[in-house]
Amino acid sequence: MLKITTFKRSCFTSRLILKSTTIKRNFAQSVGKVDDTVGLIGSKTLPILKAMQKALTTDKPLHDWTPDQIGEIYNTPLHDLLFYSQLITRKFFNPSEIQFCSLLSIKTGGCTEDCKYCAQSSRNHTDVKAEKLLDLDTVFSQAKKAKQKGATRFCMGSAWRGMHGRKSALKKISGMVKKINDELGMETCVTLGMLDDGQAEVLKKAGLTAYNHNIDTSRNHYKNIISSRTFDDRLATGKRVQDAGISLCQGGICGLGETDDDRISFLHTLCTLKEHPESVPINKLIPIKGTPLADELKTKYKGRELTMEQLLRTIASARLLMPASIVRLAAGRYTMKESEQLLIFMAGVNAIFTGEKMLTTMCNGWDEDINMLKKWGFVPMKSFTRSTPNAHLRINIDSKSKTFSINLAENVPITERALKEHCEESGSI
Ligand code: SF4
Repeated sequence: MLKITTFKRSCFTSRLILKSTTIKRNFAQSVGKVDDTVGLIGSKTLPILKAMQKALTTDKPLHDWTPDQIGEIYNTPLHDLLFYSQLITRKFFNPSEIQFCSLLSIKTGGCTEDCKYCAQSSRNHTDVKAEKLLDLDTVFSQAKKAKQKGATRFCMGSAWRGMHGRKSALKKISGMVKKINDELGMETCVTLGMLDDGQAEVLKKAGLTAYNHNIDTSRNHYKNIISSRTFDDRLATGKRVQDAGISLCQGGICGLGETDDDRISFLHTLCTLKEHPESVPINKLIPIKGTPLADELKTKYKGRELTMEQLLRTIASARLLMPASIVRLAAGRYTMKESEQLLIFMAGVNAIFTGEKMLTTMCNGWDEDINMLKKWGFVPMKSFTRSTPNAHLRINIDSKSKTFSINLAENVPITERALKEHCEESGSI
């Protein structure tokens, strides 16, 4: 049981001390007031919890988080939580960059697994029909289109339990990965279910960048959602992927009728992995008619509907706990208002799926996304961009003087300039 109401808070007088003259000037222009005794955050006292101190001061991802520490972070007052997660985004990434990905279903429907939320399970009564694996030319032309529209990562999903006994499909998919890599220079990702020994190595040889295999939810809630494969099966596939030298894309789904403790436990599993996933997709469930979960959310889980606040807490905590990982808002974004999406980016999301479709669900369109992000000063992330700790900001907490200061690097991105460079390079915005 997490003691979320009895956390001891150590209060630090918070002062933002700007040490770079360049940045001083930039901030002076943007906020109109720079003084090393005035907190730009608008408050003279800012509580920093112990676990939050740990998250803010590390220069590298940590793997020894406890559920209590994660609960402390998750339950930080929301406005503080978003502020801290923004600091960490800036510490580990260029905060202006958003990765654009496209996700194509290369083999739709007819899956033998019993995931209660999924439209593609043959056990669920939805409108999705089983289809064959798409051919190379169809997949390549979709990847090409995605690249022309500004996507830098192309993901391919198949509705399968796994790749056991699918030697010829593995060969075909490896061919798709290779062609997209060689001819388009895009990052590639596949989600093909469980892998047998040696199959990850085949995909690695083809040049695969990342393999997606979500844990979906907490270990405890998992058994309420899926019975045809275990939580540990999921972790074993993730390990196979990482052992083969492929980046792991592993996250889950919010809105499966889980509790706050489940979301905390889900984050705990991910952030205590020996190597954090390179990418952490967070999906917001859109209940689909004909799936068992759509009914259970109205009965068994009534009253546990996911709120925007819970989603923001999950995303911001993921950012703080896995600072060098790309945090990806996956399914469900098309149901959100622009103002909600802005909050999501402020909580630490730095990758989205964009395009015509996301597997079998709707997706926000490329042009709509580019216009929205341009309006807010975001630019597309280049392919193969990875986190660079302390590239843009350094956070120091001095327990003696009870102050925290932030040093911005001289090369902190200036949005206008970054935007212009990206416009010239990508030609997409
Ligand atoms: S394994 Fe994937 S495709 Fe199959 S039912 Fe589960 S979520 Fe759907």
